[in-house]
Amino acid sequence: MPNNPQAARAASLLFKVIGVFPLLLGLGLLAGGWFSAKRQYTIVKDWLSADAVVMRSELVSRQKRMAHNRLATLYQAHIDFRYAVAGKEYTAPAGSDYSSSDYAEMKQRVEANAPGTHHSVRYDPANPYAIRYDAGYTFSFFWGPLTLLLSGLMSASIGVAFFLLGSMVGKARVQCPACGKPVGARERACPYCGAGLVTNS
Ligand SMILES: [Zn+2]
Repeated sequence: MPNNPQAARAASLLFKVIGVFPLLLGLGLLAGGWFSAKRQYTIVKDWLSADAVVMRSELVSRQKRMAHNRLATLYQAHIDFRYAVAGKEYTAPAGSDYSSSDYAEMKQRVEANAPGTHHSVRYDPANPYAIRYDAGYTFSFFWGPLTLLLSGLMSASIGVAFFLLGSMVGKARVQCPACGKPVGARERACPYCGAGLVTNS
């Protein structure tokens, strides 16, 4: 804790300035998570169901660079469906941004959607080529927005914590450089000896 008013004010400002970055980042992530969640919700609520037959089902893996330059392998299910909307036949890959480092989980998804098997898919009434096979109120369908919302919340909390810290330091009692009595960091003059506490440097 700084012990003179000048240093306390500087530290208070510094903490608040540092806090701006995680706060803005957090708010951005929260906004992104909100729009993404709304989109997934629209798919579950408004997209229509069609019976579809699987044409192709593949497990795809890719390398992703994680923190500390560690490489992680992520798995994704690539599934093509054929289905009919208003008498017209469509064949399209099912969109899914869900990927997982859990090989067994994805393998199970691919096997559950083996070629020739029938499933209910959701298609966008405005563009029947856009389909989802995993739409539902499930963790995996909402994991994208959930991840954004959680990291946004964490980042914004860190920003708020820095702001609170800055405000605490700004309100802290510090020593008057002239008489040594405790004074508020925001006071302009010492109430005991009258010494000015604001010096322009
Ligand atoms: Zn004083």
